Amino acid sequence: AKELGRNNFQYFSAEMNSSVTDRLELLNRLRQAITNEDFVLHYQPKVSLASHQIIGAEALVRWNSAHSGMVSPASFIPLAEETGLIIPLGEWVLRTACRQNRAWQDAGYPPIPISVNLSPRQLARGDIVEMVERILTETGLEAQYLELEITESVMTTDVEKSFALLTRLRSLGVKISLDDFGTGYSSLSYLKRFPVDTLKIDQSFVRDIATDQDSAAIVKAIISLGRNLNLTVLAEGIETEDQFQFLLANGCDEGQGYLMSKPVPNKNFVDLLTQ
Ligand code: C2E
Ligand code: CA
Ligand code: CA
Ligand code: CA
Repeated sequence: AKELGRNNFQYFSAEMNSSVTDRLELLNRLRQAITNEDFVLHYQPKVSLASHQIIGAEALVRWNSAHSGMVSPASFIPLAEETGLIIPLGEWVLRTACRQNRAWQDAGYPPIPISVNLSPRQLARGDIVEMVERILTETGLEAQYLELEITESVMTTDVEKSFALLTRLRSLGVKISLDDFGTGYSSLSYLKRFPVDTLKIDQSFVRDIATDQDSAAIVKAIISLGRNLNLTVLAEGIETEDQFQFLLANGCDEGQGYLMSKPVPNKNFVDLLTQ
């Protein structure tokens, strides 16, 4: 009984500390990974729904960890955002994506824009325009072949500052896309005012379009909103032929999803460009 009690106690205290210890350990490993550049980008094609042609690619980061294999961004991006590590990581992602896109063009593939996710924290720093400019110069990529994906929260926090930054980015020639559209709280008046090129319909609505009338209605409303504001509309998370056909029939321009391709490493993406 004494033994059991002691084990219980050890178990209990280990439990109490586990979340803090785990977080610290993860943070230390993440910091080290950034120093070592232990990351890779995978690329997911964006296609024209009408022609099936690849019209772009989204760069999505993965942590290539000796400790736990290929780690999904969902498990480290939030921590990187909280701790500010997203700043060096985000710069690495941007540079690597631009360099890769330039290399595809140099290899003779038809030029397409590369889309890079920007965290609100990167915009908050205020030197994002200078960083983008510097990386474009460094990599030799023309601005028209870079698209930045931001979320609606950027439009609603520090509106004036975000507006100014996005306007400057856009005047460099970079495209701006609103990610996860429909899940945030942006008002339609912001949308009209903000310098944005593309609306990305969030995958939570796309998932249910064939089975849920409300989701279908929301998707139709976003498509017509985008068309009326002269924006390109892209649907993410397309997994089935039914979803694809619904989106095409309702005038959605572009799509992304497992039906066409999962995000893949560079060598597989090049195969897709070749087809
Ligand atoms: P996101 O920007 O909304 O990216 C779309 C996510 O949906 C990706 O997950 C992608 O792999 C996944 N996806 C694509 N098609 C389908 C589909 O048909 N079905 C389903 N179920 N999922 C699909 P991933 O790569 O795990 O990335 C998750 C999130 O992590 C991203 O969401 C983005 O918010 C963040 N993230 C990824 N890379 C970066 C980065 O370089 N910087 C920043 N700041 N965030 C990033
Ligand atoms: Ca995205
Ligand atoms: Ca998204
Ligand atoms: Ca998302």
